[in-house]
Amino acid sequence: MSESRHTKVLIIGSGPAGYTAGVYASRAMLSPILVQGIEPGGQLTTTTEVENWPGDTEVQGPELMVRMEAHAKAMGCEVIMDIITDLDISRRPFTARGDSGTTYTADAVILATGARAKWLGLPSEEKFMGFGVSACATCDGFFYRGQEIVVVGGGNTAVEEALFLTNFASKVTLVHRRDELRAEMILQERLRNHPKIETLWFHEVEEVVGTEAPLGVEGVRVRHVKTGEVTTIPAKGLFVAIGHAPASELVRDSLELHHGGYVKVQPGSTATSVPGVFAAGDLTDHIYRQAVTSAGMGCMAALDAERWLAAQD
Ligand code: FAD
Ligand code: NAP
Repeated sequence: MSESRHTKVLIIGSGPAGYTAGVYASRAMLSPILVQGIEPGGQLTTTTEVENWPGDTEVQGPELMVRMEAHAKAMGCEVIMDIITDLDISRRPFTARGDSGTTYTADAVILATGARAKWLGLPSEEKFMGFGVSACATCDGFFYRGQEIVVVGGGNTAVEEALFLTNFASKVTLVHRRDELRAEMILQERLRNHPKIETLWFHEVEEVVGTEAPLGVEGVRVRHVKTGEVTTIPAKGLFVAIGHAPASELVRDSLELHHGGYVKVQPGSTATSVPGVFAAGDLTDHIYRQAVTSAGMGCMAALDAERWLAAQD
């Protein structure tokens, strides 16, 4: 049966930005509702050790997110497992429809839908997805015990995934299109010193090759970006780690976006182009994209929403 719920503040997303907004909006006595989405806990649930969350020298990503959820709930935030499929911000109260059939109306909305993994866009990548091609080493690494693996990308995610996969794989080849990594220096050093990892500079993935029955990856065909030379790396798995794109589909036509889909917020604020709609975290941030900056923006969004609602009264 479809249900209708009204709240002063609807928070969409359950990453560090969403849960932090939940803590602050609850403490402002706004009785927020937070809708978790398809990935409760957000991107950090797809990683292992987090070493740069202040106060924890080392904490497992999934554990940190369980703690954040518990914190938001303890402050009074109602956390709901649902996915928002449609958001109407053309009139107030704002209306969001959930996949569950529930309709949420809200006086203010905080968008914290974060970002999602990018794919190479190759037909063979799509064909072998779930059959040797993955974007989550923590989820799928275990299936590659004693096997050779290729990781593509040159940022923090690619290097962390390559390092993590050495726990299972006999060899990891990191394929990067340049000869310089974006990853933090400490990660680059660990990568360089790891005996199981080889880095292939100036190469792009051209195709994933494998068997039809059973469907499975046997190798990754790569091309030297300067010489054009093509080689095939034997591998049972390809992990794609080429970055993340903002999850702004809900507001693609209703909010001002920039830098290829990030929600535009006013400088020093989380206010979007529609009054009463605030945005925080990776959804708005093409520069820092960290757990701690997302959490900081979640706090700002709740405070901005509180002040905006008070001004309406
Ligand atoms: P996200 O964490 O992306 O969460 C988005 C949330 O929105 C999810 O809960 C999702 O379910 C929800 N959502 C999306 N669409 C909808 C919808 N339609 N309806 C309802 N909900 C929806 N950062 C660090 O600081 N340290 C690290 O060590 C670190 N390691 C990382 C490792 C990996 C593998 C990755 C991918 C990222 C890592 N990051 C790290 C970056 C960090 O995870 C992100 O910066 C942070 O999670 C962004 O938080 P967020 O709240 O903006 O969004
Ligand atoms: P990223 O920093 O954007 O790096 C993406 C990498 O993939 C780049 O090296 C890029 O190459 C490469 N790439 C992009 N498109 C490609 C394509 N089509 N083919 C081949 N290569 C391609 O993404 P990320 O590593 O996922 O990190 C995202 C954010 O999360 C960052 O802000 C990062 O700091 C953060 N994060 C932090 C941690 C941590 O703090 N420990 C861990 C993970 C992620 P070029 O370099 O040539 O552009």
